[in-house]
Amino acid sequence: MLTELVLASGNQGKIAEFQRLLEGLDILVHSMKEYPEIGEIIEDGASFAENALIKARAVCKATGKAALADDSGLMVDALDGAPGIYSARFAGEQHDDAANNAKLLQLLEPVADADRTGRFFCAIAIVLPDGREYTVEGTCPGMILRELKGQGGFGYDPLFYVPDMGKTFAQLSMEEKNRISHRGHANRKAVEILRQLKGE
Ligand code: IMP
Repeated sequence: MLTELVLASGNQGKIAEFQRLLEGLDILVHSMKEYPEIGEIIEDGASFAENALIKARAVCKATGKAALADDSGLMVDALDGAPGIYSARFAGEQHDDAANNAKLLQLLEPVADADRTGRFFCAIAIVLPDGREYTVEGTCPGMILRELKGQGGFGYDPLFYVPDMGKTFAQLSMEEKNRISHRGHANRKAVEILRQLKGE
């Protein structure tokens, strides 16, 4: 029976969101920060799912506990799916949101409004000490604007417009974003798997 889970993330926002989703399930959630001995994990997979698995496997191996990891990014159709798994370091290793957004705007400058389509993508991997592995995915389609709009969120949020909402991700409340986002969809699928594992 699943009683503990280590999240392969030090991001407080992600951890808080996941703890909220797991409420009532009686699974003790640990942050990777509790295990400084794990060190840096090299994410050299060729897909979001591979990278999530690499992280979850490493954390499970190091802690002896069930581990959950996610990997996410933006895929732009006119750029053949870029920045994709390189979303965080699109404009360089400094992981600078402003520089990433500026590079995206520049590359899409010649692209007509109707062709500025894309999607956020999120893969989540769950790895158990007994060797079982699960992956789930979530996506959210949208359009890339020509200028930043909205103050909330992070990363590419101010450029990512969701036609159904009439707003960018950066203009949505946390609840609205969680309801429709790639990560929200993937999180809910992951919680379903954890619920089943808990019931075993
Ligand atoms: P990570 O998987 O959380 O490390 O995210 C990788 C990168 O993808 C981030 O640094 C952002 O650039 C981008 N990204 C992923 N999810 C989002 C989102 O919900 N909004 C904006 N950018 C995102």
